[in-house]
Amino acid sequence: MIEMSGVCKWFGEFQVLKDINISVATGEKMVVCGPSGSGKSTMIRCINRLETHQKGRIVVDGTELTDDARNIGAVRGEVGMVFQQFNLFPHLTAIENLMLGPVRARKMSRKDARERAEFYLERVHIPEQADKYPGQLSGGQQQRVAIARSLCMEPRIMLFDEPTSALDPEMISEVLDVMTELADSGMTMICVTHEMGFAKRVADTMVFMDAGEIVETADPGTFFGSPRSDRCKRFLQQIL
Ligand code: ADP
Ligand code: MG
Repeated sequence: MIEMSGVCKWFGEFQVLKDINISVATGEKMVVCGPSGSGKSTMIRCINRLETHQKGRIVVDGTELTDDARNIGAVRGEVGMVFQQFNLFPHLTAIENLMLGPVRARKMSRKDARERAEFYLERVHIPEQADKYPGQLSGGQQQRVAIARSLCMEPRIMLFDEPTSALDPEMISEVLDVMTELADSGMTMICVTHEMGFAKRVADTMVFMDAGEIVETADPGTFFGSPRSDRCKRFLQQIL
């Protein structure tokens, strides 16, 4: 479903991604971790072309990401993304935030979009918050609205970039629970997170990045039980 081969990227003189190779099968869950500044966000942002790469190939569900706007549009339609900052529209209610994409981008009728939005608010367990504005919701509720908003576009792939790192500790599990349910439903996912309990529960593949490189790729048993590189060992000691 997602293939990156030999991907390199520079910000000016600074090489942020160095020969990135990953392969994510349909239904696979990949969890990416690594120190701050190692290139995790940049890597997953390349997958929906929020960032452009300069070398190598990125193929998403059979479509190669090139400068061709049609390819970029096709890939964006299949890939949902959830960020650390929820990026909800503050002047729209929860349900209006969910309806916006289907109505604007998919030309869905407001009635159908509302039904779909209700369905996904139910799925993230906050149907009763539909008519509240983001400012009236807790951080955990806002992040669940953001996840539901992505799901309303019915993506085939979901990318998560540290979705719980801006949350108060008591709200982290309500978001991870929703992500776990999504994983169990068969969604193809790449999650950048340092929530290692979640990683152990859902990951098929663990990736450790450092200084723009993928240092380690392994199944969770091997990754947590016997990491090969010293960099990865040190990192795990710090966060576990
Ligand atoms: P991570 O998500 O692992 O913390 P990022 O992908 O955000 O890492 O950033 C990797 C490196 O690239 C960092 O050194 C960061 O400062 C740099 N960087 C990120 N975005 C930009 C940008 N738009 N311009 C220049 N440098 C950037
Ligand atoms: Mg990041």
